[in-house]
Amino acid sequence: MANFFKDNADLRYYFERGVEWEPIVRLVERDFGDPDGFSTVDEAVEFYVEVASNIGEFVANEVAPRAAQIDREGLIYEDGEVLFPPALTTIFKKIKRMGLSAMAVPRELGGLNVPGIVYQITNGLFARGDVSVCAHNGFHGGMAMIALLYSIHEGTTEVDRATGRIVSTRFQEMIDDIVAGEAWGSMDLTEANAGSDLGALRTRGVLGDDGVWRVTGEKIFITSGHAKYHFVLARTEPASGDGPGAGLDGLSLFLVKAYDEKGRGRKKQKTWHARVERIEEKLGHHGSATAAITFDETVGELIGERGEGFGLMLFLMNNARIGVGFESLGVMEAAWRMARDYAAERPSMGKTIDKHEMIADYLDEMESDIQGLRAMVMRAAWHEEINQRSRMARDHYAEPDSDEWRGFDADHRKHKALARRLTPLLKYFGAEKAVDMARRCVQIHGGVGYTKEYGAEKLLRDAMVLPIYEGTSQIQALMAMKDALVGIIKNPQAFVARMGRARWRSLSARDPLERRVARLELLELSAQQHLMQKTATGKLKSLSGRPIAEWPERFLQNWDPKRDFAYAMLHAERLCQLMCDVAICKSLWHQARRHADRRDVLDRYLGRAEPRGRYLHDVITTTGARIIAELGGEVDAEAAG
Ligand SMILES: Cc1cc2nc3c(=O)[nH]c(=O)nc-3n(C[C@H](O)[C@H](O)[C@H](O)COP(=O)(O)OP(=O)(O)OC[C@H]3O[C@@H](n4cnc5c(N)ncnc54)[C@H](O)[C@@H]3O)c2cc1C
Repeated sequence: MANFFKDNADLRYYFERGVEWEPIVRLVERDFGDPDGFSTVDEAVEFYVEVASNIGEFVANEVAPRAAQIDREGLIYEDGEVLFPPALTTIFKKIKRMGLSAMAVPRELGGLNVPGIVYQITNGLFARGDVSVCAHNGFHGGMAMIALLYSIHEGTTEVDRATGRIVSTRFQEMIDDIVAGEAWGSMDLTEANAGSDLGALRTRGVLGDDGVWRVTGEKIFITSGHAKYHFVLARTEPASGDGPGAGLDGLSLFLVKAYDEKGRGRKKQKTWHARVERIEEKLGHHGSATAAITFDETVGELIGERGEGFGLMLFLMNNARIGVGFESLGVMEAAWRMARDYAAERPSMGKTIDKHEMIADYLDEMESDIQGLRAMVMRAAWHEEINQRSRMARDHYAEPDSDEWRGFDADHRKHKALARRLTPLLKYFGAEKAVDMARRCVQIHGGVGYTKEYGAEKLLRDAMVLPIYEGTSQIQALMAMKDALVGIIKNPQAFVARMGRARWRSLSARDPLERRVARLELLELSAQQHLMQKTATGKLKSLSGRPIAEWPERFLQNWDPKRDFAYAMLHAERLCQLMCDVAICKSLWHQARRHADRRDVLDRYLGRAEPRGRYLHDVITTTGARIIAELGGEVDAEAAG
């Protein structure tokens, strides 16, 4: 029987050897203190494999065969309700019956208590079957988990310290509804004039004299916008300042119930508190409702503190972006396998087309990129899991001020930073590669690729949304660039030391693979150094002759992002591409050091990343002056190139 987990050796590597499961299992199983839980790491991992395998089989046999039908039928909007056609209804009934509606939710709340990383992996399996089903499913259990994490964050979840079991939590009703497979959640940020620029949003949250918050505004493009439970971002405080990022500090986050229900089964009756205006007619993603919804003085519950909304939303979005990495992997797997199988059968000019050099090269690169992305995504998900679980353990299981508390606190901070660094990179790389690969899949199919016969064109239509939602590719590239350059500004000594280490490894490391990874890293650092010098030319000039130790203070003063970062913003995408290759190669090197069979994976990836890195470095360090000049920025002619 077809199984999307069992047929994927690269994915199984992570369960068998690639992931260090012990720290995750210990945190998820609260150090084996739960009498209903597992008692060893092996037992737990065996269960995760079983879950992934069951879902791999389910998606291969129940979802993928229905993908074309789901795409054809789409969703129906009628009198403010979103109706699902039979194929989707069947799939979600089965998901409910299999108890998969809330996989990562703790077992005492009715979930399967699997780690977030396993949940995300299974989302990737869903995406290989149909990415819109994956998106729809993700707004189910994913939202229940987020509700729980928000409650833990604000201190409204009670935990039994001895066993680590949750005794009560603020959003219990929502979690129960979702675990039962009865409701969906959504995250409502975007408005007609506020997409990438969230600080411009107009939805308001007003606190009445009765102590009740009410939310008013119109949100668009909301995935599962017909859901019962909405996390809504709204303005509660006046916007401050202007320029990029202004206004984000005045936003708050609300949990808004869009309707209540009475009765059971067919007699169920809804009373709406918000209005679903329409669902969008989209290029692809036809099994996922993308809705416009209006709130008119709809009652909402404030989450956390006033003005904390954007930070809370980012927390949700970081997870969602790692989720897009896994979705992208699903699309890429589908595209590569479909293209490979077709190319192996289609004869042309005396041989099958997979034996023609150019197509063989395409297929080889596709496979290598999938392995590369998976290495980066798994690493980010691993860090994110430890970050979140350590924080939970610090706040709920450890004795305050104990060594254990300090250990969890340190782990939380360290892994949070590492996950945060990788997240925009993997979102960018995954989304862009998914589109590239889906397009190649169409091309490899030739004329039939342009028809609906094989489903290649559907993959391309579906993939096109990945670089748009959860923060566009451009925004990810800007984030990655900003993190890198601000890091240098804050701590130039660390940057210089990192460069020194990379240079030393590039020359003296014993392993040739390590030397090659270090050389690639040097290209990244050299490009960053160039952008730093270009964007801070004026400041650097004023620092001429001053010791490096004075840089932090002087650099940190009076930054104007528009003027100072113009060059870096121009080249942000190229820098991001270079950073992606380096992050992937470092992840693969980490594997190759421990498992000899992964050396070949790294070698293949490096073979493509090295010339690409030299090209990107060249473009970053020699072009851009003309555009900056045309936009009215200052150009340092000598250094402009
Ligand atoms: C199918 C689908 C599902 C979605 N689901 C949700 C959801 O569940 N919840 C939700 O809140 N939203 C959702 N969205 C909305 C999505 O997040 C936004 O469309 C996205 O953030 C981009 O915003 P925008 O459409 O306003 O584009 P704009 O912000 O207008 O951007 C247009 C273009 O300009 C670029 N751009 C903008 N600013 C800059 C800059 N400073 N530098 C360089 N380039 C820039 C962008 O990258 C983009 O290429 C969904 C969208 C789609 C299509």
